[in-house]
Amino acid sequence: MLRSARASRAVCRALAANISLLKQVTRSAGRRTVHARARVLPRRQNLVTLIERRYRRIVLSSEAETSLTISAMKAFLLFCVVLLGSTLSIFAADKVAEKLKPAPDVITPDALLAHIKILSSDEFEGRSPGSKGEELSIKYISDQFKAAGLQPENPDGSYFQEVPLAGIKSDPKVVLTVVGKPPMELKFPNDFVASSARLQPEIKIDNSDLVFVGYGVVAPEYGWDDYKGIDVRGKTILMLINDPAVPDPKDPSRLDEKMFKGKAMTYYGRWTYKYEIAAQKGAAAAIIIHETEPAAYPWQVVRSSWAKENFELDNRNKNMDAVSARSWITLDVAKKLFAGCGQDFDALKKSAITKEFRPVALTAKANIDIKQTLRSFKSHNVIGKFEGADPTLKDEYIIFTAHWDHLGRHTELQGDQIFNGAVDNASGDAAVIALASAFPKADPPPRRSILFMCTTAEEAGLLGAKWYAEHPLYPLEKTLADINIDSMNVWGKARDIEDVSYGFSTMDDALAAAAQRQGRTAIPNSRPEKGAIYRADNFEFSKVGVPSLYIGKGEHLLSRPENAPLRSDEFDLHDYHQVTDEVHADWDLSGAGQDVDLLFEVGYQIVNADKFPEWKPGVEFKPKRDAMMNK
Ligand SMILES: [Zn+2]
Repeated sequence: MLRSARASRAVCRALAANISLLKQVTRSAGRRTVHARARVLPRRQNLVTLIERRYRRIVLSSEAETSLTISAMKAFLLFCVVLLGSTLSIFAADKVAEKLKPAPDVITPDALLAHIKILSSDEFEGRSPGSKGEELSIKYISDQFKAAGLQPENPDGSYFQEVPLAGIKSDPKVVLTVVGKPPMELKFPNDFVASSARLQPEIKIDNSDLVFVGYGVVAPEYGWDDYKGIDVRGKTILMLINDPAVPDPKDPSRLDEKMFKGKAMTYYGRWTYKYEIAAQKGAAAAIIIHETEPAAYPWQVVRSSWAKENFELDNRNKNMDAVSARSWITLDVAKKLFAGCGQDFDALKKSAITKEFRPVALTAKANIDIKQTLRSFKSHNVIGKFEGADPTLKDEYIIFTAHWDHLGRHTELQGDQIFNGAVDNASGDAAVIALASAFPKADPPPRRSILFMCTTAEEAGLLGAKWYAEHPLYPLEKTLADINIDSMNVWGKARDIEDVSYGFSTMDDALAAAAQRQGRTAIPNSRPEKGAIYRADNFEFSKVGVPSLYIGKGEHLLSRPENAPLRSDEFDLHDYHQVTDEVHADWDLSGAGQDVDLLFEVGYQIVNADKFPEWKPGVEFKPKRDAMMNK
């Protein structure tokens, strides 16, 4: 039961906004052809009733506002019917698409917006795992799955996969001492952050030797080994962020396309990789030197994401295979430390961009003490299944994923404390819910089965997806693909759609064809240097071999000149992972509606295809898939 009058007022405002939109739509509907097919109306009304019911739950919590709200709701209901009726056919030119026509009718901008408004309302407190926000989120999503007619994945009738998590709050101390000099006592969190994935109350590292290992990368395919000639067991290693920035021998102003994919980030550039390899090498602690440009984010981001409670999977081994201490230090601290040891940081950094680089032992020691407050709890992936119609093929699956979690509520903040995560990723959940309601209406019905999954703890390191990939409910070799959605375009229709995982799998072609049928183009990842495909749930499926498609946003909006700054870049700059990622009055979900139609078609093609999607030759995830499929 939701009680806040503040949220009720917000919903009233939202409804009022819808009413004014309704007027506009009614006006514009008069100007264009409206396809109100009586045959599909009962289905549409189901959806409308559903959304209305959700609104009622939040809205009716305030007595005083009840009568106003009911009339607003009636208007909203009418509004939904009108808009649902006015959805234009998008697949007119194509036979397959023609067949699918009735289904996308349930995918409407307003249904998407309604879901987003609820999931990102202050009531949901930023949807942090293990909080009231989790309870509300997984209830809302599973109710939607149920209403759409999905089966619970679990034979006990629930839509949940339990994910054991541990919350870890770290109180770290790091002292670096150049031999023969007074110790550098670093200030947390201005100079450094440190924590451990090991579920232990205290991590202590005494007098450990410090070694600079360049980028900390071992990449045989590039003939690269930053650990050559050294045993780092028990030592504390220092490394640079991102992957080695190797210049093109012909034009040193550019990066070598043949090394670590040039400007694009490879997994070797991710901090997760750096801590993983440090653990494999037996290092006691791993410290990343932060630099704003190559990291693509300022120290502020490191500080705020590591100085709060973090989550890890509560694995049976208590994560004792992880590196004992993981830390970041600022560039200033690193420069001071290197200078103290008689080393020039910039010169060492330069030497690290060649294959000839060898680790450099510093004349310094590290003392690290991290006290950790731990709590264990069960979080949940929400999973629903729509069974395929073919008696044999129904045991094969595709999965649509979007994470439901976000950053929660930060009580130390002045003013707004709630990270509503409206774009990230209430919008993706709305898309998955819309797809879940569309597939059961597809005619002819899909041959294979479809799983709809809203994952937990993505923001904490893709933990829900990782748990599923390591504990799959359906065999991975029978899982054709993961299609991941993380943040939709909420700013109107676009000329294009970003294929973030472009170049990785044969699904690129299905996406490009579907986009073309909408009169749009699929474009490659527009910010490859950010390594987005390694930073979202699709990566956990890729890692275990399952071909994954990561759909981005429509980027070039019809409302802006072709070469104007991207709206999504403005979002990244001002609202990404900020309390301002909320529903705004200028939102226009028509582009998101188009994107979900597109995903629907891509998914429909894959579940009915004669062949499984495949990784393209040379893609790092391909060997795992080939082994799984006995190729
Ligand atoms: Zn996200």
